[in-house]
Amino acid sequence: MHIDIITVHPPLLESPFSHSILKRAVQKNLVSINVIDLRAYGIEPHKKLDDYAFGGGAGMVMMIEPIANCINELKSKRMYDEIIYMAPDGETLKQTTCNYFSTLKNIIVLCGHYKGIDERIREHFITKEISIGDYVLSGGELPAAVMCDAIIRLLPGVLNDETSALSDSFQDNLLSPPVYTRPADYSGWKVPDILLSGHEKKIDEWRHQQSLDRTKLRRPDLLI
Ligand code: SAH
Repeated sequence: MHIDIITVHPPLLESPFSHSILKRAVQKNLVSINVIDLRAYGIEPHKKLDDYAFGGGAGMVMMIEPIANCINELKSKRMYDEIIYMAPDGETLKQTTCNYFSTLKNIIVLCGHYKGIDERIREHFITKEISIGDYVLSGGELPAAVMCDAIIRLLPGVLNDETSALSDSFQDNLLSPPVYTRPADYSGWKVPDILLSGHEKKIDEWRHQQSLDRTKLRRPDLLI
């Protein structure tokens, strides 16, 4: 999979892909991530990227030309399956959407800033608008990193058996069961006996029941 991320603050996207599981995914060539500095497409003489909103009001708006030029240049080199804009008023990111994105070959992720981007970009270039939740962040970089992490860990070969994505929360619309590790007894706080029994089938049944109970209690909306 190839991901092009367009941003005015490339350093904000350095760390998330340089550690742990995502770093290994990049090293194993399971994903290539290209962070593009939008400033390179800024309008001369000062590489301008934003301007006042028509109609007045507080906040600057990201201009159409730099973003359009950048996306057009990318599109001249690759066919993209989706061009995604990170937006608080977009569709809330869900596991099912991440599953779908993880099947794609090439995507562009556009990070907004300031008051947002000129609406015409959204109308004419963007194929999906994704929010990571009902709150407003100062830029699209952290949302882009969150979404890319959720996508990349699903790519075949990224996770090994111990961290398998299939038993994670939201797959099958269920939350994960509780997990424990050594010691089995910490100052009298004991791990459930069943997990120490070695009885694989019973453990599976217990975990499934725990998943159901937890989902009913915490996220009944998932079971409807
Ligand atoms: N004026 C806009 C907010 C702009 S915030 C509004 O009220 O809807 C600046 C940028 O941060 C946005 O363009 C978007 O790319 C990003 N952003 C902020 N919150 C986000 C969220 N919850 N999910 C995804 N992107 C978000």
